[in-house]
Amino acid sequence: MQDTKPRILIVEDEPDIADLLALHLNDLGATTDHATDGHQGLKAASTREWDLVILDLRLPGIDGLEICRRLRASGNSVPILMLTAKSAELDRILGLEIGADDYVTKPFSVIEVMARVRAILRRVELDRTEPMSLVFDAKGLSINATSREVRLEGALLDLTPREFDLLTYFAAHPGAVYRRSQLLDQVWGYGHEGYEHTVNSHINRLRSKIQPAGAHEFIVTVWGVGYKFVA
Ligand code: CA
Repeated sequence: MQDTKPRILIVEDEPDIADLLALHLNDLGATTDHATDGHQGLKAASTREWDLVILDLRLPGIDGLEICRRLRASGNSVPILMLTAKSAELDRILGLEIGADDYVTKPFSVIEVMARVRAILRRVELDRTEPMSLVFDAKGLSINATSREVRLEGALLDLTPREFDLLTYFAAHPGAVYRRSQLLDQVWGYGHEGYEHTVNSHINRLRSKIQPAGAHEFIVTVWGVGYKFVA
């Protein structure tokens, strides 16, 4: 897959699930490490470099939501895939407050988890090897696709990899209207009916970062269709 193996942290207190995930991730060519409670998980996630953290919601010690929130609050933008219950507040998980990149609901199929993992790793790999040359600079917003830095009125913004990808995808096609399903295909790398509110959550989070009150509205909702980028 790549010259350095992807490093994935599994934070999961159920040994059977952790073992199953590790087995399949190793098959995928990844190296894995495993934390069995929230304190261990937060420490491992914040003190070492990972390509992905798979984070269970319910953990002894600190729960997954709190771990995710603390990592984001400290400026850590490592990709995070949450394992959640169906009853969990899914929009909140992807929202600004918690800031996960994606989630799967328990009980999950390993095939589904691995599809998500592959999509995230593909993005991580693209970031590493194929920096795009696109640089957007207008209305106070500048996007440097090589350094992956986004600035608003000169101030560096803290975007997750997915938010960055979403923004650069939009910025590369100003005026084009995208359906949520198209964005899932193009930015997430999988089409998945029923996951369209994943797009809404990410767009809302991205907007809150690039369009503070009174600033230019870069991403506009096209009612009944989707979204477009206005330069
Ligand atoms: Ca658990």
